[in-house]
Amino acid sequence: MDAFKTQLRGLGRHAQQLAYRSLDQHLRVGITGLSGAGKTAFLTSLVHQLLHAQETHLPMWQALHEGRLLGVQRQHQPDLTLLPFDYEGAIDGLCQSPPSWPPSTRGLSEIRLALRFVPARGLKRQLTDHLTLYLDLVDYPGEWLLDLPMLSQDFAQWSAQQWRMLTSEPWDRHAAPWRARLDAVCDDSVDEIAQGYAALLSQLRSELAATYLQPGRALLPGELAGTPILAFFPLPPERFERSDDPLRDLLAARYDAYCQQVVKPFYRQHFARFDRQVVLLDTLGALDQGHAQIDQMAQSIQAIMQSFHYGPGSLLRRLFRPQIDKLLFVAGKADHITVDQHPNLLALTDSLMGESGRRARFSGGRVETMVLSAICASQQGQIDQGSGVVPVIRGLDPQHQPTTRFPGEVPKRLPSAGFWQQQGFDFATLAPPRLERPQSALPHMRMDHLIEWMLGDKMR
Ligand code: GDP
Repeated sequence: MDAFKTQLRGLGRHAQQLAYRSLDQHLRVGITGLSGAGKTAFLTSLVHQLLHAQETHLPMWQALHEGRLLGVQRQHQPDLTLLPFDYEGAIDGLCQSPPSWPPSTRGLSEIRLALRFVPARGLKRQLTDHLTLYLDLVDYPGEWLLDLPMLSQDFAQWSAQQWRMLTSEPWDRHAAPWRARLDAVCDDSVDEIAQGYAALLSQLRSELAATYLQPGRALLPGELAGTPILAFFPLPPERFERSDDPLRDLLAARYDAYCQQVVKPFYRQHFARFDRQVVLLDTLGALDQGHAQIDQMAQSIQAIMQSFHYGPGSLLRRLFRPQIDKLLFVAGKADHITVDQHPNLLALTDSLMGESGRRARFSGGRVETMVLSAICASQQGQIDQGSGVVPVIRGLDPQHQPTTRFPGEVPKRLPSAGFWQQQGFDFATLAPPRLERPQSALPHMRMDHLIEWMLGDKMR
């Protein structure tokens, strides 16, 4: 080793710098989850905790704990075609009086941080006194991952599958008015019917908590809003029996264009470049809404998992060669329940992932689950109402009035319909905590575990 160091010294300053720089690392992390899962709050907190690590309580982050973190800085983002993540806007909202939650994710955005640290041991420590880890964090809607199965279907197969769902319960009744409009479609009304289809998908999402909805960009179009590539919808089986049907040909062409020019480029240009992936889940929100909703959540998790099944020979591997080595499912917003219920929330989230979670294969990696709160808006407490001490949470309701609640017990696995009739679950939105100054500590639960999961091995 000493001989190696002497050799390196002999290289001259420029060559030395190059040798050290080659030890610097890049890590690109995707952050996703369905709308409302908490992506923006999570990314805001993650960036804040990293930028202000020295003043924050992050005991599980080894590099920080061992005093090896030298500093964290924002850098210009590498991908100039992406929207920058609006970190300042989010922090500004939290500093207002009263504070507000940051606005939800609508498309892809990115932020880069540079973390300077002292390597723990080994060759790196011998060669240099510090290294830099460039961390790119990319936030994108989980709805976009639900489009993956479309790549292995043609328009006829996709239509048949969608039509089955649109004509059976629970969607049938909601979809009937749109189906009636489709019967009267003419050339001039195609775009209007397509808009009606996007509106129907939004309605299914808000009224039935449906999550497995395609195409994903109809719900969150990002920069494609209003473009013809999104103006397609499924047709009933009889339209595929005719030999000649100009409408069918038009929609099939748009469907193919969507798969080739929207879905594939997303996987190729973004998904395939992630090294690690965090998927946020609003398990508590779904539990609060009812049996159908939590069942839907299980289905969508399993559909999202398809994007991570890339064993040898899989469509994904053949098309895009993804390289994600660690995948984490996060049950967020854990400050809505008492801490004694956190183990149950973890068990429930694991059970929603089912078989498909266990089957996911990575290059040596594995799927993990974690319970956390990105921005903790409650305090834990206890009350005694005469019949014994009950754990509670205390916080502010959305009108910023004090509230004390016992949200209920979280079941360990997907409960039967009786759960909602007997005990149910009381989940109420909380107002965010207010930050005194942009640099003030942002309360959280287990963001340090998350940071260690994400960066720990890269900072040794
Ligand atoms: P997105 O659509 O995935 O970007 O979701 P957001 O980050 O906008 O979160 C949606 C809402 O969930 C927020 O407006 C908050 O009301 C709530 N939320 C998100 N994270 C937390 C959290 O850690 N604690 C609490 N109490 N609420 C949260």
